[in-house]
Amino acid sequence: MGGDEFAVAAQTHEGYACDDFVELLAEAVRKPVMLGDAQSEVSASVGVACFPEDATNVSELLARADAAMYEAKDTQSEHPVTYREGLLKRSASRRFLDREIAGAIGRGEFQLQYQVQTSLRDGAIVGREALIRWHHPVLGTLYPGEFISLAEANGSIIELGRWVLAQACSDAAGWPDRTRVAVNISALQLRDADFASTVAEALRSSGLDPQRLELEITETTLIRQRTEVVDVFARLQALGVKIALDDFGTGFSSLDTLLAFAFDRIKIDRSVLHASLQPSRTRSVLRAILALGHALTTTVLVEGVETQNQLELLRGEGFDEIQGFFAGRPVPNAT
Ligand code: C2E
Ligand code: CA
Ligand code: CA
Repeated sequence: MGGDEFAVAAQTHEGYACDDFVELLAEAVRKPVMLGDAQSEVSASVGVACFPEDATNVSELLARADAAMYEAKDTQSEHPVTYREGLLKRSASRRFLDREIAGAIGRGEFQLQYQVQTSLRDGAIVGREALIRWHHPVLGTLYPGEFISLAEANGSIIELGRWVLAQACSDAAGWPDRTRVAVNISALQLRDADFASTVAEALRSSGLDPQRLELEITETTLIRQRTEVVDVFARLQALGVKIALDDFGTGFSSLDTLLAFAFDRIKIDRSVLHASLQPSRTRSVLRAILALGHALTTTVLVEGVETQNQLELLRGEGFDEIQGFFAGRPVPNAT
C-alpha cells in the first residue's frame, strides 16, 4: 500500500476466526531475520477491520483497518488492534500529522521552549529543560504529547531529535549565566548507532561545554535496552555529558535501574508530588527516594512544583532542586 505498509485480506470461517489468523500473521512478522551474520528484529503495527461488521465495501474497510493500524502505532501496541467506533476520526488527523512531521523540520515549524530548574539552597537558576513545540500553520501550537509518539512510530524522531540537540546546544551556548541545558532523549534515539556522534557534533558545532549538557532519559528506555545503553552512556559520560533519570516514581522505579547506571541527577515525576495520598504518606515516599538518591551521591530534583507550600515542604526535606510552574513556565529562548 505504501513504502512500508501492507494489506492482507483473508476469509475466515467457523473454526478459523479472524483472531487466529491475525495471531499467525503477527507471529510470522516477529520471526527474527538474518542479515548476513546479524540477527534483526522486525516489528509491525497491525490494524484489523472485519466485513461486514465494520464496513461493507473495500475502500471503507481499508480506511478502518488503516485507522486501527494507526491506533496500534500510536499506542505502540505489540498486539493487533481491531477497529472500533471513533478510531476513524482520530486517525485522520494523525495520518495528516504523520505526513507533515518530516517536512516541518525543514520549514522551521519546531521551536524549543525552556523551563528553569532552580536550586532549593539559594533559589538560583541551575539549568533549563528544553521542551519542544510545533507551530503548525493550520493547527496552531501542538504539544509533544500530540506528536512525539508519531515521530517515534514513523522514524522521524531521529532527525527531529538531532535538530533538538543542535538547537538546544546552540541556544545554551548563548546564555550569559552558563547554566546547563537538559534535553529529552527518546528510546529510539539511544538505539541509533550514531547517537553518540550526534551528541558530539551538536557540542562541537555550538561550542557548548559538554559539562553543560544533560540528557534526560526515562526508566522504560533503560530497561528495554539495558546492554546497548551501558556502552552509549560510557561514551557520553567520557565526553563530559551529564545524564538524568527522568520521570522517576512512575512505572517501575526500580532499585536495579538506580544501581546499574551512574546518574548525575534523578528527576522525581510530578505525579509523586500530586498523588492524592495523605500528605504524610507523600512525604514518606519523597523522603525515601531522596535518601536513596543521596546515598548514591546523585542530585535529586522534583518536577511539577506549583505552589509555595510545595516548595517549602521540599526545601524542608532537603531536596536539591525543583522545576515547575511555580519557578517558571516553559518560555521561548531569551535572545
Ligand atoms: P517531561 O520531560 O516530564 O517534561 C515536563 C512536562 O511537564 C512539560 O510538558 C512541562 O510543560 C510540564 N510541566 C512543567 N512544570 C509543570 C507543573 O508545575 N505542573 C504541571 N502540571 N506540568 C508541568 P510538555 O512540554 O507538554 O512535555 C511533555 C513531555 O514531552 C515531556 O515530559 C517529555 O517527555 C516530552 N518531550 C518534550 N520535549 C521533547 C523533545 O524534545 N524530545 C523528546 N523525545 N521528548 C520531548
Ligand atoms: Ca524531561
Ligand atoms: Ca519529567
